[in-house]
Order: sequence, then structure tokens, then C-alpha cells
Amino acid sequence: MSYNGVIERYREYLPVTENTPIVTLKEGNTPLINAAHLSKLMGGDFQVYLKYEGLNPTGSFKDRGMTVAISKACEDKATAVICASTGNTSASAAAYAAKSNLKCIVLIPKGAIALGKLSQALAHGALILAVDGNFDAALDLVREITQKYPVTLVNSLNPYRIEGQKTASFEICDCLGTAPDFQVMPVGNAGNITAYWKGYKEYNAKGKITKLPKMLGFQAEGAAPIVRGHPVKNPKTIASAICIGNPASWKRAEQARDESGGLIDMVSDAEILQAYKLLAAKEGIFVEPASAASVAGLLKLAKNNYFIKHQTSNIKQPIRIVCILTGHGLKDPDRAIKTIKPPKVVKANMKAVLKEIGY
Ligand SMILES: *Cc1c(COP(=O)(O)O)cnc(C)c1O
Repeated sequence: MSYNGVIERYREYLPVTENTPIVTLKEGNTPLINAAHLSKLMGGDFQVYLKYEGLNPTGSFKDRGMTVAISKACEDKATAVICASTGNTSASAAAYAAKSNLKCIVLIPKGAIALGKLSQALAHGALILAVDGNFDAALDLVREITQKYPVTLVNSLNPYRIEGQKTASFEICDCLGTAPDFQVMPVGNAGNITAYWKGYKEYNAKGKITKLPKMLGFQAEGAAPIVRGHPVKNPKTIASAICIGNPASWKRAEQARDESGGLIDMVSDAEILQAYKLLAAKEGIFVEPASAASVAGLLKLAKNNYFIKHQTSNIKQPIRIVCILTGHGLKDPDRAIKTIKPPKVVKANMKAVLKEIGY
């Protein structure tokens, strides 16, 4: 059977009808990868899985929400969409807008988005404006514009984005045959943690799963408003996708945390980079820095014996932990080149090359 994207696969859970024109790039259906090295590092009977969302069509999970948001915009006869973006929302919006012949307008914080993401939005022909301010300022502008002009907002404030993004939790449950015990993920504007939790609750209500995971969210230390309990005026982190000082879905993220008995904590940029390198070197998975925040969080909690203390299942089977890897490493090639040693230049002769290899 051919795969036709998240709307077709999970149609009964989504707000679409036969009148909705489905705009899809066959997003979703991403692999849940068994992480042998990380599982071993946990020390105990743990199974760590990595949900590699970097393999979506534009390289991040944003595509799951965008297929629904853009399909509904087309159903509503919209002619233009707009978003504020730290990069991946704009890449996704631009691609789905191109596919459906909608005008796409993007407001990005000046100088604060990764080059790979900017090149995507440019390639897909979006109108891009770099706002001389941070993400939160760009989002405020976009909110105001959509209240006054006939242009559809496609940030995660758009409920269709959350609807589409919840399909990732369905996939995890379908793959494991159960919900995981814990789910670890980065938190920026907090739409995604909201979406996953909504998805798990809906699957539980349908009887597809019989337990819910504890939701463990991680912000970057320099952009951790939820952890600190107040908005952060000038958020700072190398993880540009989660460099957000006043998350739009703040309350709902806290709700996911509290209802699930989980937590929202923070990791430093150094911890993020360490996890970033480990994922690439030991698991063979290249992610962007924001995605590595989930694994940095996993390692931080493991060090504090969190998982052993909070294990709820008494059945004799490994504790399943799923880390969400939200975006691809190629999104931010500058970071890789800055973080990992660049290649050494050698003379173009066999002797020099063999010497470096060690033969
Ligand atoms: C958008 C994004 C996030 C943050 O998701 P929120 O829904 O804003 O919390 C994390 N990682 C990547 C790669 C993203 O693109």
C-alpha cells in the first residue's frame, strides 16, 4: 500500500472532510530508531528510541502540522499565509504554500536563523522579512497583521498545526504497540509538547493505548521561561529553534507536564552540544542543536537517577523512553563546522594522504 501522508493515514483523528483539498508532501511515517549506545549509557533495563523527525520532507516535524494548516487554508479559499519563524516553520510553510500556489510571507528574527532553513524558504519563493528584533517580536507583529488583513496565520497558534503534529504520537504508539513510559523533547514555543500530549490522550480515549507517557520537556538555559516562571526578554542559545522567550502555548505545556506527571527542565548549550556530537558519532544520527536538547535532557535526568525513581510500570520489561529528534543536522551546517574539527588540508599526493590515514 502506498503512503500518502499524515492526513490520509490518520484522517479519522483530524478536522478534515471530503471537501478538504489535501496538500501533502507525504510527511510523517518517520522512523523510530533503537538507540543502542544511549540505552547502554542509561545503566539498567532501559530501551531508548529516537523519533527522527528530521526525515520529514523539509527536514523538521513542522511538516506534520503544515499539511493540515495549508490544506484547511485552501479549503477556506485563503490566498496568502504568514508566519513568524525561527526557521523551520518558514521552510515548511514556504514548501506547502508553493505546492498549493499560496503566497507565503515570513517574518524572521534578524540574524538569528540557521542558514539551511533560510535557504529553503528562499528556494520555495516566500516573501521573507528579517525583523530587527527577536522571535517573540516577530510573532506579535504576525498576530496583529492576521487580525487586520486577509492572511492566514500558520504558526502553532493555528489549531490545525497542533492537530497535524499530534500524529507523531500516534506513530510512536503504533510502532511500539503501546505508549512509551517517558517521552523527552525540546520545548520552544511549546506547540509540539501540546500536540504530542493531545495525541496520546486521544489514542488513550480511543482504547488504542492503555497508559500515558510522562512528558519531559527541555528548554535551553538561556531561553527557559517556563522553567524560570517568567518570560525571558532576550533569550539566548545556540539552539535557534528553541530560542523563544515567551512561548505561545506556555499554559498548555504546563498542562501536559502536570497531567502526565512529567517535568519541564533546562539544559545548557554545552550539554546540548555534547548530546549533538554524541548522536552523530555514536548513533549515526545528525540533528540540529535544538533536537539534541532532548538527548541532553535524557542524560541529565539519567545522571540524577530520575528514571529509576519515577518508573511506574511493575511489569518485567524494559522501560521505554522516546526522545524526539525534531530537525535535521543539515539545517544548521555552520554549527557542525564550528563544533566539530574541520578537515585538514593535505598535499595532493599519495604519500601525504597515506601518512594522515596512518597506513
Ligand atoms: C519548532 C522546533 C522546535 C520547538 O517546537 P515548539 O513547538 O516551538 O516547542 C524544536 N526543534 C526544532 C527543530 C523545531 O523546528
